[in-house]
Amino acid sequence: MPLYEGPRCNICGEPLVSPHSVTCQRCIEKRPAFTKAFYYGLYSDALKEAINAFKFSKVRRLGAPLARLLSLVEMPEADAVAAVPVSKKSILARGFNQSLLLGKAISEEKGLEFLPHALLKTRTTLPQSSLNREQRLKNLRGVFKADACADGLRIILVDDVITTCTTAHHCAKALLKAGAKEVFVLALARTPA
Ligand SMILES: [Zn+2]
Repeated sequence: MPLYEGPRCNICGEPLVSPHSVTCQRCIEKRPAFTKAFYYGLYSDALKEAINAFKFSKVRRLGAPLARLLSLVEMPEADAVAAVPVSKKSILARGFNQSLLLGKAISEEKGLEFLPHALLKTRTTLPQSSLNREQRLKNLRGVFKADACADGLRIILVDDVITTCTTAHHCAKALLKAGAKEVFVLALARTPA
């Protein structure tokens, strides 16, 4: 599966058409709460199929190879790993939180502290993909709560797929509010521009 090495926004990682990595318009207008987003590849083809099989078809054994892809992404130095939480309802439906499994694996790989309870999703939300940008922001407002265990730490926040960065932004905001020093986002894939 190909690692994406093309031009991207130097904050949110959005793949860019321009040959240079610069800051995208959205990040210029409103800087996300996280410092920078990193990901392995684009959400398409085989990587997309593997992530969806892992996430929706509960093919748990895909967790290890996908975590290995994550470990190939170069990351800045950090202290701990947290994961984007899902609601209790999603865990009941799916049996597990895919980001939490990936986060645990990556923390072991990098020898970092794992904070499985750093973030909590306080209510069920509408799927972000079904909403426009304004609705997306509203949909997630105040949804994520962070624990004091994040205090003073540089945190790698693990997600499976970055779509608009809105979820990552809100999670990072909660972590910073709880005292985190800095938040980086690490995902398997980014939706293509
Ligand atoms: Zn950007």
